[in-house]
Amino acid sequence: MLRTLIPFVMAALAIAQAPRPNATNVESGKRYPHIVIRNAIVVDGSGTPAAGPKDIVIENNMITDVVPADAGRGGRRSTGDISIDATGKYVLPGLIDAHAHVHDERGGLPQPLDYELKIWLACGITTVRDVGSDTRKTLELRRKSADGEVASPRIFVYPMIGSPKSPEAARQRIRDFHALTADGVKFTGINRDEMEAAEDEAHKLGMRIAHHVGVEETTAWDDIKFGTTSIEHWYGIPDAALDDGVQHFPSTYNYSNEGDRFRYGGHLFREANPEKLLRVLDGMVQANVAWDPTLSIYEANRDLQRSKTAPWFKDYLHPTLEKYFEPNVANHASYFDHWTSTDEAFWKENYRLWMAALREFDKRGGLIGVGDDAGFLYSLYGFGLIREMELQQEAGFPTLKVIQHATTNNAKILGQEAKMGKVRAGYLADLIVVNGNPVEDLKVLYPTGIETWVDGKPVHGGGVEWTIKDGIPYHAPTMLKDVKDMVAKARGQKGTNGGM
Ligand SMILES: [Zn+2]
Repeated sequence: MLRTLIPFVMAALAIAQAPRPNATNVESGKRYPHIVIRNAIVVDGSGTPAAGPKDIVIENNMITDVVPADAGRGGRRSTGDISIDATGKYVLPGLIDAHAHVHDERGGLPQPLDYELKIWLACGITTVRDVGSDTRKTLELRRKSADGEVASPRIFVYPMIGSPKSPEAARQRIRDFHALTADGVKFTGINRDEMEAAEDEAHKLGMRIAHHVGVEETTAWDDIKFGTTSIEHWYGIPDAALDDGVQHFPSTYNYSNEGDRFRYGGHLFREANPEKLLRVLDGMVQANVAWDPTLSIYEANRDLQRSKTAPWFKDYLHPTLEKYFEPNVANHASYFDHWTSTDEAFWKENYRLWMAALREFDKRGGLIGVGDDAGFLYSLYGFGLIREMELQQEAGFPTLKVIQHATTNNAKILGQEAKMGKVRAGYLADLIVVNGNPVEDLKVLYPTGIETWVDGKPVHGGGVEWTIKDGIPYHAPTMLKDVKDMVAKARGQKGTNGGM
């Protein structure tokens, strides 16, 4: 008995002591001068089909070569001191989140910054465009990330301009942001005259503009006229196509009431004149105004039950964020105190029309990006971005194109298309190694992976294995484990404090 057990125990020990599979010698979070990813099937982000197996050579923070994996027979195969075996795996450009907010608190309660940063890396996100946060703190995070001092995606900082009281005040805010070295600016709640002045000043200084239009004085026509880089979400697009120029909301409607604002937001696309809407989309295409629709952030409006019971909440929802999601007028977008099947039906129709408009925009040559705006409305950082990709597939885009939206297109929105968003020699080494084929199933990108039933038993698979940002490999499951531990610890503290 014992004799038969010994080889088994020895083998088990050998497995326990062996280097992590497919991670030969690679330490998470360490920069190496030379890494080779071997035997990868590559989806390069440009919309072209998967190809491989290929070896990807990384020197410091650059991709220096992408060669057929069998090139070694002719002596060309590159030798690296470090290699990642990507046999059976897919390599994509690192995902870019074009609409994110750096959060270290929610509703006045602290939330560890690492919580968000590590979920992002676990989800394969190597770059985020921050469109509103504590600007000075986020500029410091941008520096730390660029210097490799913190495990974080690259950060582009677009501070919110707020509501300047005069065109000159708007210009001054842009100049102040430029002096702070902000990468761009985010507009929301800005009136037309101030918007015109701010855009003019931003163009002079070479700063890009993200606009959450809202149901306000300006519409997509102003973005077309003044030269906005990207319209965020979707408000302002149907509003630019209204027959009367005003929305037909109930007479009791109050925009300052978020319940009203979000409920009747679900009526906007049905109010748009379809022919006018096409003219708006054409105008956006001609003026190079991109569209970052953030479909996923509004999903609770069409299916609250689904959003509230996301399976990843069990282990990965921080109690601070959980608390923030509860209905509370003090917290932006926490308005689900009374949400009905009627509200959901309107929002389902709104999604159908919105998705059709996105398809029309693309057909006409429009540039579509991918962002999630997570941290609100039951949307969890990172997971929201993968969900966004699924919803863009639901809108009718092939997965190859959705991947292009999240990589090459987002790089264009950032003005970084010459160095980011593609798996190509001469590009920055921002890559993900995925356990599975995202062209077949975008769900393999979720860090919690997928379950397939084989011979009557569930087999767990999928997930990003490595997120390589600026040449530094981060082991995605390790990032996710850190997040789980952080959440467990915070929940434990919450328990001992008698709850929040
Ligand atoms: Zn936002």
